[in-house]
Amino acid sequence: MEIRIEGLCKHYVSEGKTVKALDHVDLTIPANEIFTLLGPSGCGKTTLLRCIVGLETPDDGEISIGGEVMWSRAKGIAIPPEKRGLGMVFQTYAIWPHMSVFDNIAYPLQIKGERREVIREKVARTLRFVQLEGVEKRSATKLSGGQQQRVALARALVAEPKVILFDEPLSNLDAKLREETRKELRSFMSKLNITAVYVTHDRVEALALSDTIAVMRAGHIVEKGSPQKIYFNADHRFVADFIGRANQIEAIVQGNEHGLTIVQTGMGLIHCQARDLAVGSKATLCIRPEFIRVTSKDRDEGQNIIQGKIEALEFVGEVYEADIRIGQERLLARIDPDVDMAQGEEVSISLNPAHCLLLSA
Ligand code: ATP
Repeated sequence: MEIRIEGLCKHYVSEGKTVKALDHVDLTIPANEIFTLLGPSGCGKTTLLRCIVGLETPDDGEISIGGEVMWSRAKGIAIPPEKRGLGMVFQTYAIWPHMSVFDNIAYPLQIKGERREVIREKVARTLRFVQLEGVEKRSATKLSGGQQQRVALARALVAEPKVILFDEPLSNLDAKLREETRKELRSFMSKLNITAVYVTHDRVEALALSDTIAVMRAGHIVEKGSPQKIYFNADHRFVADFIGRANQIEAIVQGNEHGLTIVQTGMGLIHCQARDLAVGSKATLCIRPEFIRVTSKDRDEGQNIIQGKIEALEFVGEVYEADIRIGQERLLARIDPDVDMAQGEEVSISLNPAHCLLLSA
């Protein structure tokens, strides 16, 4: 089901100061997608999620789910959380320690007053879905962190919600388990025809899990798009910077040639992906470290080949990270571990114009 949010505002007053947690947010979350709200701590992700669920009352605006208005100031509508037909998975597993796995999952059906046979059948089906058959009699707290989070997912799914909302569900798991659980979650969700809204500040999680990412900052949606669009082709500097490490270099637009935009920088003239920017205007050239090709000095020839010097080289596991000095600029590049390079070495750098992204300064 599609979620529509129009003109949503929410403020808090804390220690005498007013914080605009949501500042006129307009957003459409398409049906049956994994839609992620991504942004730094305090940008308003959780507040937006809690407003959708109904755990928080907005100041103004409107929220509809599947065409039905759930909350509207103007229309005086406020459907309570339990009547919105949503499931929610929290950061803390929020499972009840004194209950078995079965009882934890059955709880939402019990409070709806479902018959015992129906409960048994639905819980069994959901346990099969999250691959937890055989542990239903165990105390939920005797399971591993990953399994506990699957219990929480099962409890959110058992009542067949129209929409499921996740608030940083993996943040309490250690790095390896987080990766495994993330893959599992993606696989579970791809089998369901359900809209999922996922809140995280972890960019890798957002890139790996989402169909669409909306990047938030200070109560606003800055930009939304597919993970690839957000990573390779962001429209905003803040987004390009937040989603992954990027070299950002001041540039002045010189003109357009053969479908590319040419800019002057401290590294010389650089050919970039075409952007509609006025000649003479200031721009920011954004290049991700993984798209900088580093070879021995004078090895390469052609467009965007520049000479530089390795100022620092650090081995970080799967690659070397190199700081390369080019004129007045310093670029961070990633070099394959089998390439033989040393600190102080003069090198050639090649920048594929397709990965030279120009953003308005
Ligand atoms: P995080 O990733 O740290 O959870 P977030 O993006 O989810 O951050 P929110 O929790 O939505 O951000 O908070 C948005 C802003 O509103 C922050 O400045 C926060 O301090 C403030 N805020 C949130 N809840 C309250 C509250 N109950 N009382 C006062 N201020 C609040």
